[in-house]
Amino acid sequence: MLDPGHNGGNASHPAEINRLVPAGRGKSKPCNTTGTATNGGYSEHEFTWDLALRVRDLLTQRGVQVILTRPDDKGVGPCVDRRAAIGNESGADAVVSLHADGSTAAGAHGFHIAYSAPPLNEAQGEPALRLARSVRDDMVKAGLATSTYIGSQGLSARDDLGGLNLSTRPAVLVECGNMRDATEAALLASAAGKQRYAEAIANGVLGYLG
Ligand SMILES: [Zn+2]
Repeated sequence: MLDPGHNGGNASHPAEINRLVPAGRGKSKPCNTTGTATNGGYSEHEFTWDLALRVRDLLTQRGVQVILTRPDDKGVGPCVDRRAAIGNESGADAVVSLHADGSTAAGAHGFHIAYSAPPLNEAQGEPALRLARSVRDDMVKAGLATSTYIGSQGLSARDDLGGLNLSTRPAVLVECGNMRDATEAALLASAAGKQRYAEAIANGVLGYLG
């Protein structure tokens, strides 16, 4: 399952996306957020949707059955708990959420892959970590820089991400890069750049699925 972060209609539906939903570990979080954007105005939801279609096509070509958590880039949500439920109900062998970050810290750039830790079930343990490492390794092979400001060696253990906390399938969240960094924004916004991310992520998933 591919989960393109956010959605095109989120910003115009604040009541719906600010509604609190279960986020795991006994906590609640807003249903969803609007996401970030480049300084030039290219939005994260548009990026994640475009990227998801590219990854989907690459995986489909290799015989992998792919489902998405949203049908287009025009709707609202789904909420983070619903996104997790879609993966759980589908029995997905791997769940990959796609995002990009929006840090304004000077020089902050690079990708990181979040996984749920401490794990709340078997899938969140070794399988999710193996998926995270496989995608990380292929992104590094593609020449993509690991994050200079979050996690270590492109990996980040998180206990606060609802979609990961609520997943009973091996799940990771890829923050592809920092949209507020001018150099990285150019890569994230270009067709060639997105294809590079897509190929690396698809290869990482294929490596994990074996
Ligand atoms: Zn995001």
